[in-house]
Amino acid sequence: MPDKHVFQEDAQILTHFGEDYAAQFGAVTPPIYMSSLHVTPKEKLFETEPMPFIYGRVSNPTADLFERKIAALERAETALSFASGMAAISSCILANVQQGDHIVAVDFAYGPARNFIANDLSKFGIEHTFVSGKTVSDFVDAIKPNTRLFYLESPATAIFNIQDLRAIAALAKQNHIVSVIDNSWATPVFQKPITLGIDISLHSASKYIGGHSDVIAGVASGNAEIMHKVKRVRESYGGIVGPMEAWLCLRGLRTLLVRVKAHEAAALEIATRLSQHPAVRQVFYPGLSDFPQYALAKSQMSGFTGLLSFSLHGDRDQARAVASRLCWFHFGPSWGGFESMVNVLEGEGETNVVRLHIGLEGIETLWADLKDSLDQALA
Ligand SMILES: *Cc1c(COP(=O)(O)O)cnc(C)c1O
Repeated sequence: MPDKHVFQEDAQILTHFGEDYAAQFGAVTPPIYMSSLHVTPKEKLFETEPMPFIYGRVSNPTADLFERKIAALERAETALSFASGMAAISSCILANVQQGDHIVAVDFAYGPARNFIANDLSKFGIEHTFVSGKTVSDFVDAIKPNTRLFYLESPATAIFNIQDLRAIAALAKQNHIVSVIDNSWATPVFQKPITLGIDISLHSASKYIGGHSDVIAGVASGNAEIMHKVKRVRESYGGIVGPMEAWLCLRGLRTLLVRVKAHEAAALEIATRLSQHPAVRQVFYPGLSDFPQYALAKSQMSGFTGLLSFSLHGDRDQARAVASRLCWFHFGPSWGGFESMVNVLEGEGETNVVRLHIGLEGIETLWADLKDSLDQALA
């Protein structure tokens, strides 16, 4: 892009940041560099300055463009992309802890992330404490002399507990603790944790960033020093994103802002209607003004996305029956794509929570489906 383009707004970054039309024969979309290695020109063979691209497990030009775009969105110095969200999570944690260290993590974090902390890291002598994280004192009380890392997920993607990111980031800094947040729910357009003082913001790009349910990928952002450590782990464990997947993420990013706004509008309306339905006990959606942590959510997010949950007055069997009667909501684990999804959360401390991803099918279509199923629960 010519110099006269100044990138200030997310919409500009999402659409055009980092793309060089002249270098790609005028193509408006960047090429996919399907190359496992990059050769060095003979005249540069013995120069001390390394070539930017050498081997595909270390870096790739398509992944690099995706990373620069995410770093710009997160207002971070640098970003790294991964083969999955879990590769991003495990690499960012591994880069910052060693034997004998202690991690404080939120108890409603993504299940496989909790499992990695509780069951995989414990094999290497790394301790952990899970906290609800709804108050800063949860973290203060959990700090031990060997605490090295706070693992956050805000909003957490089951019943959407929020952590006070500014206060927790400040507490981490005072105690020389690295703060890491899973920012997948809010996306880099609605929440920018680096600007609030958090050290690493990471995403499952398989969710809203990809946005079309056709890619598994992850990405993490932070300052150059911390991401340099993470890059060494990515190199050793081999978790870089593939070029095709990086390209699909770039494709997803172009429409991220318009998609999340559409998910937000539909989810807010559906959450409001759900909270007025007599079969529903409680709705969990941080964008509802009566959500218990609404003020905190508003103070650190500029918008809300499409994943929400609700509990019923009945038991788990009723939750299962309500979910299974839906026809536009498909039963499955993931979210963040164009399509609506439903899942019944088991073993989450809440016994009858139905989680919905509000897709792009249209509010009235989705509400008619939900209302019909909920009405039958009352019959
Ligand atoms: C899906 C998900 C992940 C893991 O991402 P993958 O790309 O599936 O590895 C991490 N965090 C949250 C909140 C998720 O929903």
